[in-house]
Amino acid sequence: MKALQSFTVRAKLPDSLSPLLELAMNLHWAWNEKTQALFRWIDPQLWEQLNHDPIALLANVSTKHLDSLSNDADFMAFMSEVSTDLNSYLNSTSWFQNRNSALVSVAYFSPEFGISEALPQYSGGLGILAGDHLKASSDLGIPLVGVGLFYQQGYFRQWLDNQGWQQENYPTLEPASMAVRKVPNVIIDVECGQKTIYAQIWRADVGRIRLYLLDTNIEQNDLECRSVTDRLYGGGTEHRLRQEILLGMGGVKALQAVEEKTQIFHTNEGHAGFLGLERLSDLIQDHSLNFDQALEVVRSSTIFTTHTPVPAGIDRFGKDLMEKYFSNWCKRCNIDINQLMQLGHLPNESDEQAFNMAVMGFRLAGMSNGVSKLHGKISREMFQGIWPEIAVDDIPIGSITNGIHGPSWASQEMSDLLGRKVIPSWAQANQDRWESINEIDDDEIWRVKDQGRHRLVKMVRQNIKKSQDLICEPSTWAEEVLDPKVLTIGFARRFASYKRATLLLSDPQRLKALLLSPDRPIQLVFAGKAHPADNIGKEMIRQLIEFSSDPSIRHRFVLVQDYDIAIARALYQGSDVWLNNPRRPLEACGTSGEKAALNGALNCSILDGWWDEMYRPDLGWAIPSFENSQDLDQRDAKEASSLFDILENEIIPLFYDRSPQGPPSGWIKKIKSSLCNLGPNIMASRMVKDYVVKMYEPTAIRYNEVSSRDFEKAKELANWKQNLYKHWSELKVDSIDSTDVEDKEVELGAKKTVRANIVVGSMDPKDIQVQLLFGPLDQDRQIKPISTIPMTRQSEPTKENIYTYSAQFSCEQAGNYGFNIRVLPSPYLQSYNVMDTGLILWA
Ligand SMILES: *Cc1c(COP(=O)(O)O)cnc(C)c1O
Repeated sequence: MKALQSFTVRAKLPDSLSPLLELAMNLHWAWNEKTQALFRWIDPQLWEQLNHDPIALLANVSTKHLDSLSNDADFMAFMSEVSTDLNSYLNSTSWFQNRNSALVSVAYFSPEFGISEALPQYSGGLGILAGDHLKASSDLGIPLVGVGLFYQQGYFRQWLDNQGWQQENYPTLEPASMAVRKVPNVIIDVECGQKTIYAQIWRADVGRIRLYLLDTNIEQNDLECRSVTDRLYGGGTEHRLRQEILLGMGGVKALQAVEEKTQIFHTNEGHAGFLGLERLSDLIQDHSLNFDQALEVVRSSTIFTTHTPVPAGIDRFGKDLMEKYFSNWCKRCNIDINQLMQLGHLPNESDEQAFNMAVMGFRLAGMSNGVSKLHGKISREMFQGIWPEIAVDDIPIGSITNGIHGPSWASQEMSDLLGRKVIPSWAQANQDRWESINEIDDDEIWRVKDQGRHRLVKMVRQNIKKSQDLICEPSTWAEEVLDPKVLTIGFARRFASYKRATLLLSDPQRLKALLLSPDRPIQLVFAGKAHPADNIGKEMIRQLIEFSSDPSIRHRFVLVQDYDIAIARALYQGSDVWLNNPRRPLEACGTSGEKAALNGALNCSILDGWWDEMYRPDLGWAIPSFENSQDLDQRDAKEASSLFDILENEIIPLFYDRSPQGPPSGWIKKIKSSLCNLGPNIMASRMVKDYVVKMYEPTAIRYNEVSSRDFEKAKELANWKQNLYKHWSELKVDSIDSTDVEDKEVELGAKKTVRANIVVGSMDPKDIQVQLLFGPLDQDRQIKPISTIPMTRQSEPTKENIYTYSAQFSCEQAGNYGFNIRVLPSPYLQSYNVMDTGLILWA
């Protein structure tokens, strides 16, 4: 029956136990073992039963038991200690407080946040990354708040029918029984097409970070509007558009409503990009700026992170939908719909083409990045069309490689070991501290791995029993699944086709031989969900299930159902090898391999994403990629065969190379190298520090400059740009005088001069800069590496409107040299990347 009205019942604790509620309501417990130990103490059995959820635990213990705990002096002392710990964590001085920083506050927008399995508001990597970003920011004291949506049904729960076909369940979540608090007396409204959507706001505390989640499931809305936040990535295109309007535009309003003063905005993938539109209309209406001026303000305070090179992963909305939802907004901004459409288009696209959220992301951000070095490069190629004149290497898209929040993912044993051997706060330690991993006893490392493997086996058996109960199959064999001594290979991620979960199935005989080897067997554990609309992904799951249902191999080849953070953690901690075989370069970064590495698993992966930049032969294995092969089937077959070769010739022999009784010393040597070299680089603390130093702080400085004196600089900047665009075509390179280097052999180290005469037209020569690029030539006659130096202008023009620029350089290396000359706008503001104007003139 539908409830007439709903209300919140929170567990009633005796006053003396009230710190427990405080501890449960701050998600800091999700990465703090001591707090978890405290809750386990309350009722170890219930704690397991309720999947380690403190709020559910407190709601389910009897009053009698609580009373007896409040009379237990040991418990009370421990509770008080944990509670004091949390308070000192919340008030501690950390990395950020020791910086003299221009950054005052940053709002981080994301469509999903994966913080804990007890707050299931995530589907995969993007959400987990967002959760880790918040946690690491909390640890380092960065002034950040999160903004997202509260989905009434979260993402779906997965189960497989008798045929192995994925089925989806959508249990309704009850925010009142989760670690979120309603912000009292605040309802925001967002114009959405012909309607107004209302939303309440939930706040989750993630350590020191406040995360605001908008929720439309309130009575002020009609049914349609209520359902806007029904499911994560559910519904059709229009539903998605409404969600994104709520997230972006509603998110900005929510920050105002809860009185968070936001200095800069960071949008995690394009889904939240409409935040820029809300800010544009605000600026135009409240500060009487015109569209171009407001655009400069928004750009100077927005950061955009792109997350996928897969075109299907980018949202696109047709012009009809954009008109339906944004025509009023256009009126408020005094622009027409085509001007809006251009924000989501490449210069050569017609107004009628679909609006691309990633393109808008770049256009509304002053700084943007991909999520690994390789992905940065791929993104520069992919989005070069936004700046057609700029060379691909100069496209203003940088990269910051994703990291993982160590304390959330390391097993307790690994965390203890690192705490003892590295430093107590190992998640923030520098490389030199990590070197002490090499002093750890092999036995100690092996014990950590053994414990992880045992736990994984136990989890898998329980999972299989539960799944079989669900479809009423007798689970006679679940207890025989997996062997805690066998080389264990993990593979868990979304079942997207480019990730190729079924690559090993391409040669079932070869695979079977490895699984069933009498003396050196392997076992494989898979997990993952396919998007409900992705039948190719579902078919991959079905094939894995079909293969695993062979009674002769089902004990060595399993798929764990209903993948979530808890299952992921058990897999990272229990695997010896983490397998990753996407089609390069489609995996933007990938973080599961980082989490596995932290737990002493060795990576065997295609050189994609993070592995491409961090791989070394002593740290793991690189599966060769045949990405130049035209035929996809052939390519898959070649890569599968290489993977089998690595397994047979390298991985399996090394794992089973044992002295009698002893652990595999060659294997453990590799674990140590992997831990101490990857450790400091894969940490989310490294990642968020990079964001602060390379993006947040420069953006904060730029925004402070642009917004001072009622946006005076923004107005200047807009004028300056308009002037540039208007007159740029008048620029010409009149002539170049390179007699000093022409057709002559140049002596090593000799200083040579190049001059260029540039027609500046009606432009002020102060508005342009001329650069000389030079360096040795490679076989393709490309300058590599390139040195860039400024050319100096003679004070007086040589002829009318023609100025002479000159520069002197010396060749420090023997061989062929070359040079080139280019004209760019002058840098206008500190940290302003002039490539971003798209204006350039080559000689
Ligand atoms: C880490 C993680 C992911 C992302 O893994 P990728 O390697 O980036 O695909 C997805 N889901 C869960 C639960 C995770 O913990």
